[in-house]
Amino acid sequence: MCARYKEPAPIKDHLNPLDSMMERFSEAAEKLGLDESTYNALKSPEKSVAVSIPVTMDDGKIQVFEGYRVIHSANLGPSKGGIRYSMSVTLDEVKALAAWMTWKCAVVGIPYGGAKGGIKCEPRDMSQGELERLTRAYTVAMADVFGPEKDIPAPDMGTTPQIMAWLMDEYSKIKGVSSPAVVTGKPLVLGGSLGRVEATGRGVMVSARSAMGKLKMNPSSATAAVQGFGNVGSISAKLLEQQGVKIVAISDISGGYYNPKGIDIEEAMAYVAANKGTLEGFANADKISNEELLELDVDVLVPAAMEDQITVNNADRIKAKLIVEGANGPTSSNADQILNDKGIMVIPDILANAGGVTVSYFEWVQNRLGYFWTEERVNRRADRIMKQAFEAVYDASIKYNVNMRIAAYIVAIDKVASTMRLRGTF
Ligand code: GLU
Repeated sequence: MCARYKEPAPIKDHLNPLDSMMERFSEAAEKLGLDESTYNALKSPEKSVAVSIPVTMDDGKIQVFEGYRVIHSANLGPSKGGIRYSMSVTLDEVKALAAWMTWKCAVVGIPYGGAKGGIKCEPRDMSQGELERLTRAYTVAMADVFGPEKDIPAPDMGTTPQIMAWLMDEYSKIKGVSSPAVVTGKPLVLGGSLGRVEATGRGVMVSARSAMGKLKMNPSSATAAVQGFGNVGSISAKLLEQQGVKIVAISDISGGYYNPKGIDIEEAMAYVAANKGTLEGFANADKISNEELLELDVDVLVPAAMEDQITVNNADRIKAKLIVEGANGPTSSNADQILNDKGIMVIPDILANAGGVTVSYFEWVQNRLGYFWTEERVNRRADRIMKQAFEAVYDASIKYNVNMRIAAYIVAIDKVASTMRLRGTF
């Protein structure tokens, strides 16, 4: 890595997503020969907003929550990115996630910049009423940040279509207009798009299929382990299973479930739906840990839980031939080299999970048109975008002689940098 671009060197595997993002950004910027001023302009977010949100809880006490919205870049268009409700939310995490959204939108070629929001809270321990008040209060605090042509939120970890509905309602009331295009991932009756709920998992499946093609891996004789059984993990598992892949392990916060004969994913999804949203107690499988799941002898590994699951501490024990990143930032930057040396193909988050924001873009387009597409049209167009993006990144990986992750960053940075040059600066 060129000294000019080097951020402070990590001493150990730092597990800071912002550092992980910067490492890859710096490496790709150097390969691309990006000029220093553009590099400097892109390394910091355009805007970071931090708010304290007082909310009356069900017991009558007031609790104050930390909330953030970070706009990394609005060069390609209005900024786009989800809102995360989790106890792990920090400003650094939101900054990294916002930058990843910039690269993600650029990789798939949709006209958006990148943003991310987050509130430090534990949604599982909150009532619907508390979640609604928190969401409305956050929307009031961010009313001048959001906007259908400015900054468009969406669901992420811990947030749901219902939360997007409250956000849309509160924003519409503040502005005095009906404004469905201010947020995506809404329930269908409020202007959501067919196919949006499945879109991220579907993109993971399409990326996995493209990668399997390059690796000459036959889906019908391949095995996979999927970490995380939320929206992304469960749908990825279901769609991969439909492609003939045998899913031998799944997991959630209750731990991992392993069955070498294969897990029936529809059955697991029905179990979770009837079991307060968790796999806890799921039968027909051996109980393993989330860490053990990552190290299983499978062909395909889909980390679809959260950041920094594959690190220097376990990367050398990973046996999969292909990793398809359903989560954002599941691999720390220090683990990249280890996976590379082992010859493992990694389809990076900013490509593999971009199906979600792609269909968010379709939702926004439909809201602005006031005309809605069939699910078949949504899926066909999303699949085409995902396949084209995969091929563009694959070609860049050959041209620059880099892995798929750095190639994806190169494609993205090149696009954002050229729009910056065209738009100019003061
Ligand atoms: N939260 C999702 C992501 O990280 C979707 C963002 C969006 O649809 O705007 O890609």
